Amino acid sequence: MMTRFTFYIVIGFLLSSVLYTLMKGPSLRKNVKGKEEPEELVQDPYCRTYIPKRSAMKKRIDGKDCHFCSAECLKKYLEKMMKERDFNASCASSKNGLFLFSTFLRNLLKQITN
Ligand SMILES: [Zn+2]
Repeated sequence: MMTRFTFYIVIGFLLSSVLYTLMKGPSLRKNVKGKEEPEELVQDPYCRTYIPKRSAMKKRIDGKDCHFCSAECLKKYLEKMMKERDFNASCASSKNGLFLFSTFLRNLLKQITN
């Protein structure tokens, strides 16, 4: 069972990499052709909302670029960080590819467990 599980994870990872490349492809080509930039989504580590990178508030925390939907979220996030010393700055894991991968894996796990 464990080996089978690992196998699914490896397959899932490979498939999601391919998917990510395929999804990224057209927007990159579009970027070369026109002036339009691909809309990259970033996650607000405080309220967990996905926002376009262009309109997000950027703040460098602990060597990582964190993006927030509003100044209020940024403030609250920093307050939370001060309060909880072991609070993990989770903005590093908000990358698009990783989000796609985790969604894919979650769906895959649902299929296996069904
Ligand atoms: Zn927010």
